[in-house]
Amino acid sequence: MKKIIVAETAGFCMGVRRAVNMVLELVEETHEPIYTIGPLIHNPQVVGLLRQRGVIPVQRLSEIQKGTVVIRSHGVSPSIRRGLEEKGLRIIDATCPRVARVHRLVEQYAEQGALIIILGDPGHSEVEGILGFAGSNARVVQGPDEIPQLPEANSVLLVAQTTQSQKKFEETAEAVKKRYCELDTERVRIINTICDSTERRQAEVSELAKEAQAFVIVGGKESANTRRLQKLVQSSGLPAYLVESEDELDFEALLNVDKVGLTAGASTPNWMIRRVYEELHRRSLMTRWFPLRVFYQLLRFIGILNFYLGLGGALLTALVGILLSDKLNPYACFANFFYIFSIHNFNVLSSPRLLEVIEPARGKFFIRHRGPLVYLSLFGLVSGAVFAFLINPWALLFYAGLSILSLLYQAQFRPQTKRGIFRFRSLMDIPASKDLFSALAWSVMIVLLPIAPGAHFSLKVWLIFALIFLMVLARSIIQDFRDLQADRLAGKETIPTLLGADRSRILIHLLLSLAVLTLIIYFLLYNSSHLPALGLATGLLWLWLCVPLFTRRAVIQGLRAELMIDFSFILAGILGLLMSIF
Ligand code: SF4
Repeated sequence: MKKIIVAETAGFCMGVRRAVNMVLELVEETHEPIYTIGPLIHNPQVVGLLRQRGVIPVQRLSEIQKGTVVIRSHGVSPSIRRGLEEKGLRIIDATCPRVARVHRLVEQYAEQGALIIILGDPGHSEVEGILGFAGSNARVVQGPDEIPQLPEANSVLLVAQTTQSQKKFEETAEAVKKRYCELDTERVRIINTICDSTERRQAEVSELAKEAQAFVIVGGKESANTRRLQKLVQSSGLPAYLVESEDELDFEALLNVDKVGLTAGASTPNWMIRRVYEELHRRSLMTRWFPLRVFYQLLRFIGILNFYLGLGGALLTALVGILLSDKLNPYACFANFFYIFSIHNFNVLSSPRLLEVIEPARGKFFIRHRGPLVYLSLFGLVSGAVFAFLINPWALLFYAGLSILSLLYQAQFRPQTKRGIFRFRSLMDIPASKDLFSALAWSVMIVLLPIAPGAHFSLKVWLIFALIFLMVLARSIIQDFRDLQADRLAGKETIPTLLGADRSRILIHLLLSLAVLTLIIYFLLYNSSHLPALGLATGLLWLWLCVPLFTRRAVIQGLRAELMIDFSFILAGILGLLMSIF
C-alpha cells in the first residue's frame, strides 16, 4: 500500500450531526431519562458514549414510561408520533429537514389521491416513516424491475429514500414514465429526494474509483447508506471492504494494492475513520524500507509518551533563556522537559477510557502499562524537581507548587451532579479550563521558573510571557479540533466544543495575530535580540500554517498531526538557538 486516499465527504452528514447535537443539548438541560427509538446512529461506540450520558435507545414504545423521547434523523410515521403524544412524553423532533420534506411531499400528493411510489429499502426506518405519511395507496420498490407490476393509477408520485443510489433512481424514473405513459406528464410526478449529501458522497466515490484499486468503507453493517457505498464501488469493478472498526481490516487482501480509497457512511464518527486510517497507514509503513520503519516506530513511541512535547518545552525554555538573559539555562530546560512530560502523562492516565475510543493506540498503551507509567511519570516529576533545585531553592518551591496545582487540577474531588457550579467534580471539568490552564502553566514554567525569584519582571519578561501563553493556547485549541466530535459526545467542554468550530478558528487566528503583534513590539523595543527571536516568529508561522490543515478536516488527524502541530515549539527552539550562535 503506497497511498491512502481519504474521501472529503466521509463522516457525519448534516442530518446526523444535527440530531447528535440536539441530543447533546438536551443532555445538558434535562434531568429526565432521554430515549431514542432505535439507536441515534448506527455506531455502537457513539451509542455507548451516549448511554453513559443517559441517552437510552429502545426498540418499542412500550419500553418508555416517562421522560423525553428524541425522534431520530430518519423520522417516524404519524401513528408513532401520536403514540408518543398519547403517552404524554416530551418529544424532541430531530427528523432531518430533508426527510421531513419527503414527508410533506408524500402527504400532499396522497391527499390528492396519487399512487405514492417510494424507491427504498423495505423495513428501513426512514422508509417506514415515509410510508406512514403516504396512506394506504403507496408501494415501496427496490428498483425498476418492480415497476411493471404496480397497479393502475390516475396519478403517481415517485420519491426516494434520501440515501438511495442516484443511478437506480434514474432507472426507476424511466420505468415509471414507461409504465404510466398513458397519463398526462403532470400526472406523473417524479421528484428526486435523494439528499445532496448522499449524492456528493456517491459522486466522490465514483471519482476516486478511477484512481484507487480498492476501497475500505467504514460504517455500520446495518447502515443502508454505507452498504450502498460498498455496492457503488463494487459496480465499478473494484473490491470494497466494509468495516465497522480497524479490527476488521483485511490486510492480506490489501497487500498488493498501491492506492486504497477510504470513505465512510453518513453516521460514522470521524474518530472511527481516523482509527481505520491510522491502522492502514501503520500497516503500509510496515512494508517499507527497514530504517524508515524503525524511525516511524520511534517517532510513535516518543509521541505517545509525550517525550516529544517535553522536548518542545525544553527547547522553548532554552530560547527564552537566551532572549531574556543571553544565556541558556540547562537546568531549567531539563526541569521543564520532565514537568511537561510527566504532567501530560498524568493527564492521559486520569482519563484513558475516552482515549481508548478515539485513539486506541495511545489509550490501550496507557491502560496496559498504567503501573509502570505512573512510576515513570512520578520519576519524571521528581527529576524535574532536582533540576529546579539546581537552579536555586526558590525555583524548586516554584516547581513544586505548580506541579501540585497541576496534579490537583486533574484530581476528582466528588461525584458529579447535573447542574450549576456543583456539577464539576474537578478543576478539569470547568469549561475551557484545560486549554487556559495548560497555556498558563507552560508560560509560568518556561518564562518565570528560570528567573524566579527576585528577578526583575521587566516589560521584556512580560512580552515573552504573553507570547508563550498565546502560542501554547493556540496550539492547545488546534489540538482540540481533532477530538471535537468525541469531546462533545463525552461532555468534555473544550474551547471548540463551547464556541463551535467556526468561532474557535477565528479565536485561533486572533490569538496568533496577538502573538505576532507582541513579537513586533518586542522587535521594536529590543533590537539586539532580533536573531534568536526569529525562531519564535518561525514557530508561530508554522503553527499558523497548521490552522487550515488541521481545523478543517478532522478525519485524518492522528498522531502525525499532533507531532506536526507540536513541531512548532521544536522549530522555534532549534532555529532560535541556531540564530543565537550567529
Ligand atoms: S443523508 Fe441527507 S437526508 Fe439523510 S439524514 Fe443525512 S443529511 Fe439528512
